Amino acid sequence: MLLVLALVAGCDEPPAEAPSREGLVYVVPIGPVPAPELERARRALTKQTERPTFVLPQTALPKLSPGQTRYDAGALLDNLLANAPGDTFRIAGVTTAPLRAAEHDTLIGYARRGGRALVYSTDGLWPMLVTEAAHRRFTRRIIAHELGHTHGGTHCERRCVLSDVKNAVDIDDQPDGYCAEHETLAEKALAVGPEHFDAKVQLGAERLRLGRWREAVEAYRHALRSRPGDPRVRTSLGVALMAHGEWLAAEQAFSDATRDTPDAPQPFYARAVLYAASGDNHRAPAFIEAAVNRDGDQKRAHRAAGILYQDVIGDERSAARHYHAHLRVGGRNPVVIERLVKLMSPTTLVFHDPELVIARWQPGEGLILASARGYSGGLR
Ligand SMILES: [Zn+2]
Ligand SMILES: [Zn+2]
Repeated sequence: MLLVLALVAGCDEPPAEAPSREGLVYVVPIGPVPAPELERARRALTKQTERPTFVLPQTALPKLSPGQTRYDAGALLDNLLANAPGDTFRIAGVTTAPLRAAEHDTLIGYARRGGRALVYSTDGLWPMLVTEAAHRRFTRRIIAHELGHTHGGTHCERRCVLSDVKNAVDIDDQPDGYCAEHETLAEKALAVGPEHFDAKVQLGAERLRLGRWREAVEAYRHALRSRPGDPRVRTSLGVALMAHGEWLAAEQAFSDATRDTPDAPQPFYARAVLYAASGDNHRAPAFIEAAVNRDGDQKRAHRAAGILYQDVIGDERSAARHYHAHLRVGGRNPVVIERLVKLMSPTTLVFHDPELVIARWQPGEGLILASARGYSGGLR
């Protein structure tokens, strides 16, 4: 269901508005953290966010799952956000415990792009922290790096504190500041206080992700007060209402969005999900097809339509038809390829453009995928 909600909600960038410095910043010790460490974090955050920063009481480290020796940074971020005060601009978790993320074995710091939370650990930094000056420098850079992600930045190839770091030595080599592009990004993000339209929309998405449906509904309703006709926010509001079980209000939000902007595809995807989820399966396909016809990104449209047909409606023939269409318009999404070859098992799929890919679903073994970039021979 969450995958489907994510497909429907879309992710266009909202336009920027007038600057403000609203909101507060919080530091949360996760497990025991020495007071000077928290003070370094507080100072760095105050300076970099240009907002008052407060240290909240210590929260407990969660229980480690069996076999784990490191704490899942993503779960720590969710914990911070779930308990963040209402006026939070950013919230930073500090710990001395070792961290990991799904795709990394070890981790110094972590933040999701465009999120409000960051977390970092001093575990593994100790050999570098020989003086108070070094300690402050490391804290400043780690916080600047993770804040850069919360401002929407990805890793940078230039001389920039948002460059990719693998270990403490890399942090030592980093500059203190952002490159010109990431400095501009930071300035824009700092202007977006919690009452800003963009922040309310982001808050809605955050609460949706955390499964706090009621709070997501509130955030989207709040956003719509300043921009009532925004079809994307109306659709997101409908998604939150649907998740909360308010079917009629959700349908109303989607049809309002379509009335104001008949060409927007998202409300149609969302209504398809609504009808399928509420047992009105026969009404869903017309809305999926209407959504695909309106979608400017046909690769994404056929992928989304296929997944909706397969996962939500249980119609594999229509799903396969859209997966084929995704490939026909040049799409090479690995999820689509995997699903299609599985549906077509034991057929082998071969694509020649832009690279040679051979995919086959082998019952008992799963997906077998061979790829040779740039190969243009006569293999068929
Ligand atoms: Zn990073
Ligand atoms: Zn940069």
